[in-house]
Amino acid sequence: MGRHKPNRSRRPRPDRSAAMAYADAYRCGHCHSEISLRAPDPDGIDHIDVAHDAGCPVLNGTLPDLPDSMRAAHETGGTVVIDSSTGMHFTIFVTDNR
Ligand SMILES: [Zn+2]
Repeated sequence: MGRHKPNRSRRPRPDRSAAMAYADAYRCGHCHSEISLRAPDPDGIDHIDVAHDAGCPVLNGTLPDLPDSMRAAHETGGTVVIDSSTGMHFTIFVTDNR
């Protein structure tokens, strides 16, 4: 934990509530995976880690994880975006900070 410098204003912490809710809502439909929320990357983007059980068909690539992502996004107000060039998908949350 850093020391607060009295003459400097604190930098507001990023709101990670959407990412935390998403990590809570995400469930692999095929195993009892453990989900954890990583520290934000240097761009401030949150990532979740999904530790699938050995033998999970999502882990070995037989089945996609997209339905599980869409289910978690639906439960938490996120939108799943698919990159057509890579096939990777992301869940985004839009907040209105006006
Ligand atoms: Zn799984």
